[in-house]
Amino acid sequence: MKADSNLIISASGVRGIVGLGLTPQVVTKIVLAFGKMMGGKILLGYDTRTSNEMFKYAALSALLSTGCEAVDLGICPTPSLQLMVKDQQASGGIVITGSHNPPEWNALKFVRSDGLFLFPEQVNRLIDLYQATNVKTSAWDRLGKVFRDDSAIWHHIKRIMQLVDVEKIKSRKFKVAIDANNGAGSFATPLLLQELGCSVVKVNCQAKGEFAHLPEPVPANLQGLSSVVKEVEADIGFAHDADADRLALVSERGEALSEEYTLMIACDFILQTKRGPVVTNVSTSRAIDDIAARFDCPVIRTPVGDIHVSKCMQASGAVIGGEGNGGVIFPPLNYARDGIMAAALILNHLANEDTSLSSIVNKLPRYCMLKQKVKNLEIDFEKLKQSLCCEFSSDELDFTDGVQILFPEGWVHIRASGTEPLVRVIAEAKDKKTAEDFSRLALDKIFIFKK
Ligand code: MG
Repeated sequence: MKADSNLIISASGVRGIVGLGLTPQVVTKIVLAFGKMMGGKILLGYDTRTSNEMFKYAALSALLSTGCEAVDLGICPTPSLQLMVKDQQASGGIVITGSHNPPEWNALKFVRSDGLFLFPEQVNRLIDLYQATNVKTSAWDRLGKVFRDDSAIWHHIKRIMQLVDVEKIKSRKFKVAIDANNGAGSFATPLLLQELGCSVVKVNCQAKGEFAHLPEPVPANLQGLSSVVKEVEADIGFAHDADADRLALVSERGEALSEEYTLMIACDFILQTKRGPVVTNVSTSRAIDDIAARFDCPVIRTPVGDIHVSKCMQASGAVIGGEGNGGVIFPPLNYARDGIMAAALILNHLANEDTSLSSIVNKLPRYCMLKQKVKNLEIDFEKLKQSLCCEFSSDELDFTDGVQILFPEGWVHIRASGTEPLVRVIAEAKDKKTAEDFSRLALDKIFIFKK
C-alpha cells in the first residue's frame, strides 16, 4: 500500500528514500502510532546505514512521548532483535533497516511480542493510527525512559549454539570467509563462527555506514567474496544483506551460488532428522518440492513475505521453511528469517556429511531461475488475470500472490514488489532456454496491461 510518493507502507514495514519519503517527521509519527498501539517495553535496533543515527533519536523520542520503556539494543541484526523481543517478553520491537534495499533507502520493521512481524491486520491498524491527526502524547509526569542493552547478539549466539552440534562443527576446523557488507551482521556472524571453532576471514565486517557493494546478497554482488574464498582457500563463504536475515553462499571453489540454494541446503539437512511440512513462498524454486519429496514431506506455498511464511509455519507445524532469497526460518529458535542461524545449520550439514559444499550442491536438483525487475512500472493485475483466464485453464494459473502461470516444464511469476516500486518477473525451468521463453512471455503480457 502506498501512502505517498517515495514512501511504501506494506506488510513488510514502512520503507522510503531518505529525505524524500522517509524523514524524521514520518519516523516520529509512525513510531508514535506503534508506541500507542503496543505500550510497555519496546526494543529498538538498527543496521549500520548513515541515516540510522537520525532515525534512532526520532524513534526514541516518539517512544518516550507515549510513555513506553524504550530499550536501545544498538547495531543489531533483525533476527537478533526478534529473538530478544520473544525471550524477554517485551511488548514489541522496531528495527530501523533498509535490509536489502540500496543505500538511499531506509525502513522500519515492526515486531510483535511473540517475535514475529506485525500481522497484516495489525499493520492496517498501525496505518490508521499513523494517519490520524489527533494522536496525543503523554504529559511531563508520564513520559517513558530509555535503557541500553548490548546483550542481544550474544544471547542470539548462545541460543543458536544450543540447536546445532557444536563439537561436530568444531571438529572440522572450517575456514570461513564472511562478507557482512559492513552491515548489522558485521559482529554477530564472525563471533558465532569463532565460537564454532572456525578460522574466520572477515570481508567487509566494519559495521560502518558505507556498504562495500549493493546490499542484496545475489551472485552479481559477491564477486569480492568469491575472490577471497579462492585466495585463502576457505571451505565456504557466507554473505548477508544489511540486517542479516538473509544468507547467501560461496562454494570452496569460489562459485557464488544463487541465494535459492541456502533454503534448499537447510531443508536437505533438517529433513534428514526431522520429517514434517516445509513452507515457502510461491516464488521459491521447485527444487524445494523435489528435496521434500525425497523425504516424503509436503510443501506448502504462501504469498511472498516472511510474515506469510511464518504464520503458515506456525499453523502447519512446519519443521523448516523460509524464502528463496536466502531467508531461512528454523522454528526451534524463532519464526523469523535468520541468516545467522542459517550459517550454523549449513556448517552442521557440511560437518555431518563430511564433504564440501560443491559436492552437496551437486546432489541437489538443478533448475534454471531467471529473476528480473522492471522498475517504475505499475500494471493492472485484474485485467491481466482476466486475460490469462481466457488463455489458460484454472490448473495452469495461481493467484496466491500476483499471477503465476504453471507449465509442465516450469513456471513464471509476476508480482508487484512490496519493498520497492517495481514489478518482479521470476521464471524457472529445467533449462535456460525454456526459462527465457517463460520470462519473455510474461514481459510481453505486463506491458500490455501497464497502467
Ligand atoms: Mg534483510
